[in-house]
Amino acid sequence: MKKPKRKLTLPEKIDLPPLLDLWEQQDPSGPDATGIYDFYRNLAEGELTTTKCKSCGKLMFPPQIICPNCYSDELEWVRIPEEGELYAFTELRLGAPIIVENYTPFVIAIARFGNYPENGVQISGMMFDVKYEDLKIGDKVRWEILEIEGPGEKKRYWYYFEKVE
Ligand SMILES: [Zn+2]
Repeated sequence: MKKPKRKLTLPEKIDLPPLLDLWEQQDPSGPDATGIYDFYRNLAEGELTTTKCKSCGKLMFPPQIICPNCYSDELEWVRIPEEGELYAFTELRLGAPIIVENYTPFVIAIARFGNYPENGVQISGMMFDVKYEDLKIGDKVRWEILEIEGPGEKKRYWYYFEKVE
């Protein structure tokens, strides 16, 4: 279990259409509206997890409620291996979503964890405190927990990637 290593603070007021705000699903004390509430609860507890099919063994990301491979609904939550490998990346300098526009420039990466694709997942995530030119495909990265503060007293949790030196 990991403690959040980094914190983002959101603006006090964000106007989003209700369908675009996944607040309820990301609030660990909120209702389980989607069936993947455990993903957010596990993040709040310091674990990046996803679903694995008990029937065919398929590991999937993002988490699902039905296996896309064999259509079984017998899925279990598994921890994503902490260290992965950088597969692709770019740097975002302009046009970031409103909630992270104050953090540009930052790197957006796709990393592979586990033995992709047979028994691993490919995940996109943000990277901070690292320059685009200091990264290369194949670099080792590790997921860390991101604490997102605001608006108000609410806390959300997400993940980001760090380069493993
Ligand atoms: Zn399956």
